[in-house]
Amino acid sequence: MEFNVAQLMKEATGARREFDLDDDITNLDGGLRPLSHLTGKLELLRIHSGVLANGAFRVALALDCGRCLEPVSIAVTVEFSESFRPLTDIQTGRFLSPEEFEGQAEDLTDEALLIDAQHILDISEVVRQNIWLAIPIVAACEYIDPENGAADPDACPKFQELLSESALADPSGKQATSGAEGIDPRWEALLALQDDPRGE
Ligand SMILES: [Zn+2]
Repeated sequence: MEFNVAQLMKEATGARREFDLDDDITNLDGGLRPLSHLTGKLELLRIHSGVLANGAFRVALALDCGRCLEPVSIAVTVEFSESFRPLTDIQTGRFLSPEEFEGQAEDLTDEALLIDAQHILDISEVVRQNIWLAIPIVAACEYIDPENGAADPDACPKFQELLSESALADPSGKQATSGAEGIDPRWEALLALQDDPRGE
């Protein structure tokens, strides 16, 4: 996800380039499990301070369902608009210090937003961070309620299966809604005693 912007940097403010991306991001981040290429559009716009990168991408990721822990495929949409500043002056090669630019100090010193001395603009880190921001806090198996057509993340089919299995295992049904899936099987005998008022 590297782009040589030497030519663009020599052009006037408002000059732009567009790219269609279809990138394998397997090695982008060890914590991500991509199931597809990252696809979408990148626009690079010459602005006074450098280059504004506008990206809109999609990628399918393998995440664990928050209910049954089975892997699920989640399509993530990544959109960003970040301004990159050059490390060196395109005409003279002179090093440019952050103070020579206007803007937030933390953005101007952010290495992820630097165009390097070879005039390479690399969006990898921005993409990586934005993927993490776009990941749902709780992923869930897709389940559509047949009665009203609504998606219900709590109705993960495998989770419902677990619930009904634990209800069968415990005829009193008391454990069916209290999350019996977390109970160590060695305690189950004790639970049976607790549910039986005559138990000893
Ligand atoms: Zn699930």
